[in-house]
Amino acid sequence: MKEEDAYRWFERARWHDNGGKPYCPVCGNLEVFSIRRRRFRCTAKECKHEFSVTSGTILANRKLKFRTLVMAIALAVQSVKGKAATELKRQLGVDYKTAFVLLHKLREAIAAQREDLKLDDVVEMDGMYVGGHIRPENKAEDRIDRRLAENQTGKRMAIIVMRERGDGNRTLAAAAPDERGDVAWHLVRNHVRDGAGLCADQHKSYDELVGLASMVRNDHGKAYVETPDASTNQAESFFSRARRGEIGIYHHVAGKYLDWYAAEWAWREDYRRMDFRSLAKGLLRQALGQPVSRNMAGYWQRPNKRDQPLVGWNPLSGMQTAPTG
Ligand SMILES: [Zn+2]
Repeated sequence: MKEEDAYRWFERARWHDNGGKPYCPVCGNLEVFSIRRRRFRCTAKECKHEFSVTSGTILANRKLKFRTLVMAIALAVQSVKGKAATELKRQLGVDYKTAFVLLHKLREAIAAQREDLKLDDVVEMDGMYVGGHIRPENKAEDRIDRRLAENQTGKRMAIIVMRERGDGNRTLAAAAPDERGDVAWHLVRNHVRDGAGLCADQHKSYDELVGLASMVRNDHGKAYVETPDASTNQAESFFSRARRGEIGIYHHVAGKYLDWYAAEWAWREDYRRMDFRSLAKGLLRQALGQPVSRNMAGYWQRPNKRDQPLVGWNPLSGMQTAPTG
């Protein structure tokens, strides 16, 4: 791919609502002129804003070539389980820090999209634990309930997933310090359509949800699910893929970025059958629709930034101030 072709990808993604032609990102004026190569200025007297194809987006202040960025996005979407920064670094010939920040920015753009997601139909809800691994014993009677607080190592966090059955089959996943009832409640209230059904297991976190939606519960402790309606198979199939991503691709996902990884896995799950060219274009459009990252801008330059909680989409304020790993 030539640099000029890659730039076209960016134009079409950023100005998709104007046929790939630039317009002012500040005042919306369509009359802009080119001041130098790939830089534009708004003609509106009171505006005169100067911009490029990435200005004001999460990919602003890029140091990489357009073709390297397109390649990075194509490589990032290729695998269904995820993309490790170490691998991207080798494939692109960039340094680790660059690959790391770029992949996190893409995750942030994916994660932010959840804000508008409303699930419908029957929604299965379940939790998965990540980090602070406790090795399962071989004999069933020696196994401990890993959900019990006293068995937690302090680094353990939960991913709560909601997944539609039926045609939509869309997935919303979020991280929480634990499989917490208040987080589950906020997720259902904000992201499940009125009239949709809900299906969850017997975990007490889901007890409060009965007031929000019609609900069936199943009991994981039993050998089988009594009625097909009570299964959370869709949620569990998401977890099995997420687990392979956790173990096989990303080795330390617990901590403040777990929420972004959860969102990324849900996104990969939902789009796993889409051809990768469309996926790459879709992700580029999402990234260019996302404002400059307050989380990732200056990440390596400002060490204290790494200890701060993430800002952005958050189903429950304070939720992402979970233990950092
Ligand atoms: Zn303007």
